[in-house]
Amino acid sequence: MKLARVGPRGAERPVLVADDALLDLTGITPDIDPDFLSGNGIDAVSEALRAGLLPALPGAADRRWGAPVARPGAIVCIGMNYAAHAAESGAEPPEHPVVFFKSPSALAGPDDDVPIPPGATKLDWEVELGIVIGRRAHLLDSPADSMAHVAGFVLADDLSERALQLEVSGGQWGKGKSAPGFGPLGPWLVTPDEIDHRDLRLCSRVNGEPRQDSSTKDMVFGVEYLVHDLSRYLALEPGDVVLTGTPEGVALSGRHPYLAPGDVVEVEIDGLGTARHTIVGGVA
Ligand code: ZN
Repeated sequence: MKLARVGPRGAERPVLVADDALLDLTGITPDIDPDFLSGNGIDAVSEALRAGLLPALPGAADRRWGAPVARPGAIVCIGMNYAAHAAESGAEPPEHPVVFFKSPSALAGPDDDVPIPPGATKLDWEVELGIVIGRRAHLLDSPADSMAHVAGFVLADDLSERALQLEVSGGQWGKGKSAPGFGPLGPWLVTPDEIDHRDLRLCSRVNGEPRQDSSTKDMVFGVEYLVHDLSRYLALEPGDVVLTGTPEGVALSGRHPYLAPGDVVEVEIDGLGTARHTIVGGVA
């Protein structure tokens, strides 16, 4: 199933994305949020769909996509998780997962404009597979236990301002990862049964020109490994999002210019849709 949130920012409605319609989920839940995910909400949607109880939402074509998860408690990010990207960033592939955090206030819809922070000159794109946690994960016994804690997957762009991330950071990356709009997510949350998360093509384009083009099978640490490993250090809660790292082909490599106002970034993952956001001047 594909779940989404549509409507104006702050007033999104939960929907199920069907082949030719959006089906309204407000009869089941007010939102796709941690309470919905931890309360077997996805099972309730599945049953209502089978019973034909979900009405179509009129005027669906004109609606804005919001981030498909409301109010995640944490956005946990993995760095250097593709060997070729580590190399273009001047680093060896890590021995253990590299973890940093993006503020949940950076979250945005997939097609929302991205404002450049004042003075920023090194804005960069990063297409990533996002994991949405469905059940609390803490001190899991093994990677084989991980998928029981995963509600689904989302497309993400881990937008990054490299000067803030690397030059004034004291070695911690959060400053360059967390500005409002730096977390476009969606359009959909896709349940694990619909995709093979171990081999998904993921790519990005800037103004229509190809940048990244890789597969999740090139990850240094896969989804199951990451959820298990993170659970050793923190409790992943329902609704939390884990961004699993980006492949090579970003501006930091020196092979492409950084983003400027007017540029249009597209990121795409097989089965998870496409996000298209325009870089704009000013502050959100
Ligand atoms: Zn990233």
